[in-house]
Amino acid sequence: HLDRIAEVDSDIHAYLHIGGEQALAAARDVDESLAAGNAPASALAGVPLALKDVFTTTDMPTTCGSKILEGWVSPYDATVTSKLRQAGIPILGKTNMDEFAMGSSTENSAYGPTKNPWDHTRIPGGSGGGSAAALASHQAPLAIGTDTGGSIRQPAAVTATVGTKPTYGTVSRFGLVACASSLDQGGPCGRSVLDTALLHEVIAGHDPRDSTSVDAVIPPLVAAAREGAHGDLKGVRVGVVKELHSDSYQPGVLASFDAAVSQLTELGAEVVEVSCPHFEHALAAYYLILPSEVSSNLARFDAMRYGMRVDDGNMSAEQVMAATRAAGFGPEVKRRIMIGTYALSAGYYDAYYGQALKVRTLISRDFDKAYEQVDVLVSPTSPFTPWKLGDKVDDPLAMYLSDLCTLPTNLAGHCAMSVPSGLSKDDGLPVGLQIMAPRLADDRLYRVGAAYE
Ligand code: GLN
Repeated sequence: HLDRIAEVDSDIHAYLHIGGEQALAAARDVDESLAAGNAPASALAGVPLALKDVFTTTDMPTTCGSKILEGWVSPYDATVTSKLRQAGIPILGKTNMDEFAMGSSTENSAYGPTKNPWDHTRIPGGSGGGSAAALASHQAPLAIGTDTGGSIRQPAAVTATVGTKPTYGTVSRFGLVACASSLDQGGPCGRSVLDTALLHEVIAGHDPRDSTSVDAVIPPLVAAAREGAHGDLKGVRVGVVKELHSDSYQPGVLASFDAAVSQLTELGAEVVEVSCPHFEHALAAYYLILPSEVSSNLARFDAMRYGMRVDDGNMSAEQVMAATRAAGFGPEVKRRIMIGTYALSAGYYDAYYGQALKVRTLISRDFDKAYEQVDVLVSPTSPFTPWKLGDKVDDPLAMYLSDLCTLPTNLAGHCAMSVPSGLSKDDGLPVGLQIMAPRLADDRLYRVGAAYE
């Protein structure tokens, strides 16, 4: 994989840092341990991985795609990082992302965009486009992403890879640099549903160092993927969400989705249409809740504690902060900090943030009602196939629309997966099928995903 990175990544730009020596040392440790007669640390011992550059690592920088953290090395490993190391998984490097995980194309990375391996003139999705592109260009067999509003699933969809956003609270956020804490969740990415399940089992689990970590049993995921691989979905009830099927989606995406629904029926699933009327407000609610949390979380980048510091020696502390943040943050991050600060300010709080929280509750209730009738819900992962680099950079609202189908799951704290769903008849580019399930029912994603795959 390091050879493959050397061969193609100067063009694709999936990685921000390559951990060549560390990865080889970790691989040698696995070899030595096996040679000494020890049992492998996990089913994935010795299988290398690409880690999104938003998880802290003591042996590589963590930049979150931002200039403000350029060169910063964390004094501690994220829990996810530690779990990977304990499982004997060598970390090949840290992958490119939209700055602080805000975006859908990796074009908001301060270090330049990643290219989609299917067509180098197109976006690889975002914010975790680096992880998805590393998989699709065979620079890593496994990857880790984070999903706040779709950043694992949409990149998976546009690169024909697999990605799961686990149930909120089941993968530790300790050492995951926060974007929007009530929505962020780390998760596994792979080129097959089974690979993704194996990785998911390595990283999930209760962590006392994350105050929102849930102490609950996660159903067996690998077993569910193996069961699904038999291709029998008899007894599984699948709901097609009416509100996530619109004429505004690309025709090729809708055609691929309709074919997927027919295939699920052929596999024995009982498919019905369900309505989730409040999903149409998910975008508006998300783009108030997320910036509000961002404006608070990113206050920690104050030029005193981490990374970059702009100071001519004659500035007050306040001037240093302002100058550093002005130089260190990119335009999308600044936009969201300003929106969030406005939405949380006295006099506007109830009208914006408070209202958005009410919508969030209504969306959760829509899901609860739907799951009284069905086991999983399905929709396209994204309304669009990968667009041309540059096409939406000047139009944030157009960019936000690509998250339409993925946002409700994050707002409700549920789980969802994107699996490849063929190529669009419009442009021959990848399309993803989104499978959604209730809290702590992540196993259903793997059963249905493996059957469909
Ligand atoms: N594209 C969405 C956004 O810009 C989702 C980001 C994410 O999941 N981190 O907020």
